[in-house]
Amino acid sequence: MFAPTVLKGEVAVITGGGSGLGYAIARDFVALGADVIITSRSADRLAAAESRMVGETGRMCGSVPCDVRDDDDVQRLHDYVLARSGPATIVVNNAAANFFMRAERMTRRALDTVIDTDLNGTFNVTRAFVPAMLKDRRGAILNITLPLPELGFPGFAHCGAAKAAIVSLTATWAYEWGPHGVRVNAIAPGPVPTEGVAAHMLATDATTQAFVDTTDDVPLRRLGNPSDISAAAVFLCSPLAGWITGQNLVVDGGLYLNVGATPGVL
Ligand code: NAP
Repeated sequence: MFAPTVLKGEVAVITGGGSGLGYAIARDFVALGADVIITSRSADRLAAAESRMVGETGRMCGSVPCDVRDDDDVQRLHDYVLARSGPATIVVNNAAANFFMRAERMTRRALDTVIDTDLNGTFNVTRAFVPAMLKDRRGAILNITLPLPELGFPGFAHCGAAKAAIVSLTATWAYEWGPHGVRVNAIAPGPVPTEGVAAHMLATDATTQAFVDTTDDVPLRRLGNPSDISAAAVFLCSPLAGWITGQNLVVDGGLYLNVGATPGVL
């Protein structure tokens, strides 16, 4: 539905781009003309995603393994992108490592793992690529968060805390970097079944059932598709959103509206 060249001339780096929402964003970016580099820890996952990309779009993307927690890896990612494609004009901070854990059982190690991947990874990758964007006065950064993380995320306290901090970073970066031509936004996805959700978040029968039952609470009465999120990502990273910065765009079929609803009134 977008013009097929809406992202032509863009060089986009997408963390966690080998699976789930990151792959869907990468696929749409490639299809709409961007030069895309995907990254995650697993070289096998990236190789499979590259093949799938060619099959689905007829176009190639680049890939390089990188652990977003590791400074040397992030520097290698930066150098690879620069040598292959030139300075990145879009960064999508999508990589995350979330898993179900009750708050009273949460270990410091679990907290550190998620903060290090979701929050510090977003910081590390952005810090590596933003200097060139500021110099060129051109760039779009997109962070992947949660709807209303400041209200908590039961069962995923570590993830909720990390995402709330990323929403704050999004606003600060938007404010500080806007005068230099760099836009910073976020997407807050509602529940979208992905490989990651199946492997790490639906840990018990109860959490799986809760995920499925969520459909009844969604005003638009369905769970999300990766394409619902990638369409919003295209918009926010394209020139169509040239006067939008600092937003945390909720894409969840209206699920977040339950916060203001009176239980049982309808
Ligand atoms: P996913 O399929 O598990 O994707 C996560 C990706 O992050 C994987 O490709 C993983 O690849 C990569 N990753 C994990 N740790 C990494 C690290 N240290 N360095 C680099 N890459 C790393 O999950 P998803 O559902 O698509 O989630 C994508 C994003 O959407 C996440 O930020 C998530 O919090 C957010 N989100 C999802 C939902 C949903 O319902 N799906 C809802 C709200 C928010 P490797 O294992 O190869 O590293």
